[in-house]
Amino acid sequence: MPFRSDPFLLASLCENFCIIPNMRILISGGAGFIGSHLVDKLMENEKNEVVVADNYFTGSKENLKKWIGHPRFELIRHDVTEPLLIEVDRIYHLACPASPIFYKYNPVKTIKTNVIGTLNMLGLAKRVGARILLTSTSEVYGDPLIHPQPESYWGNVNPIGVRSCYDEGKRVAETLMFDYHRQHGIEIRIARIFNTYGPRMNIDDGRVVSNFIAQALRGEALTVQKPGTQTRSFCYVSDMVDGLIRLMEGNDTGPINIGNPGEFTMVELAETVKELINPSIEIKMVENTPDDPRQRKPDISKAKEVLGWEPKVKLREGLPLMEEDFRLRLNVPRN
Ligand code: NAD
Ligand code: UDP
Ligand code: UDP
Repeated sequence: MPFRSDPFLLASLCENFCIIPNMRILISGGAGFIGSHLVDKLMENEKNEVVVADNYFTGSKENLKKWIGHPRFELIRHDVTEPLLIEVDRIYHLACPASPIFYKYNPVKTIKTNVIGTLNMLGLAKRVGARILLTSTSEVYGDPLIHPQPESYWGNVNPIGVRSCYDEGKRVAETLMFDYHRQHGIEIRIARIFNTYGPRMNIDDGRVVSNFIAQALRGEALTVQKPGTQTRSFCYVSDMVDGLIRLMEGNDTGPINIGNPGEFTMVELAETVKELINPSIEIKMVENTPDDPRQRKPDISKAKEVLGWEPKVKLREGLPLMEEDFRLRLNVPRN
């Protein structure tokens, strides 16, 4: 094997004939909704090698099918509550169910994923000297008493409610990130993600945008949970991925809010979906779940200033893009 014994020949061969990845990137939770879009974006750069670790609780191989078998891509069935030994330069730590239906299904497991999972990812980052980004959430602000929410707001979270496994789990995950940073010098980044939507969301995962689009396409009434005046701000997934990559490659640890400041009541959202997708359906009011935050809107001044980022896709532009994907998956062709 001539090039085994001749490193200069090997270097020259590689330079001329192969792509040498100069960044190996781990994405925990990369088979999920946001993670799979992040994979697509990172794979566009030929210098990146992407490894996904996912236990498929809410994600699926289907989301990554175009990359399976690609020489710069690797998919590992792995639960982040177990240790992971691997060599990487960057870790995007997304693993955690994001839909209330799924994170409430096994709340103890949700806490383990947030706490032990984040601890393991930080232990890995420490051992290999990788930079790590946590996808935290606007839920750390709980039912906010300040509006819109800046990063400096400490939140109003119920520590013993049915949403606490997620909200408090992410708050501990943020604390762990900062303690590893201060104690061990780990390079950290924290994104506080606000409600995100787009193609590949689980069709029946209970989140409001996916519910409404699926209901509109099936000709069912849109289920607005009472009172309907509660607000959310919806960010299209391509804007989210752009913000996450900027945060990872920038110099600020965060936390930084990444979200779209366009704020809508759930009644307004239902009316918009009805108008755009199926004007003949009804909107009906149904019971809500406990501890539902009454209003939520990101203050994105910091993202604008530090990352030069702001969302580009408006709700009325993003909903039709998601509709196309749902039509294909639900087999509801356009008339
Ligand atoms: P998702 O449920 O589609 O993706 C989560 C992925 O993590 C899935 O592929 C799932 O199988 C995997 N996973 C869950 N537990 C795991 C475990 N123990 N080990 C390994 N993999 C595990 O959710 P998403 O919307 O893509 O959210 C991604 C991240 O962004 C999550 O951390 C979520 O908390 C955060 N976030 C999302 C939103 C949003 O609106 N989508 C808002 C705020 C924060
Ligand atoms: N860990 C991991 N992969 C690694 C290194 C560590 O999953 O490459 C896990 C390890 O099993 C531990 C956690 O990360 O549970 C925290 O590791 P750290 O070294 O910070 O703490 P310690 O092992 O000393 O408790
Ligand atoms: N919601 C709704 N109808 C649904 C599902 C949700 O009106 O079919 C409401 C829910 O009460 C909440 C908002 O939509 O006020 C956002 O809920 P989602 O579960 O999408 O996200 P989160 O509560 O985590 O922000």
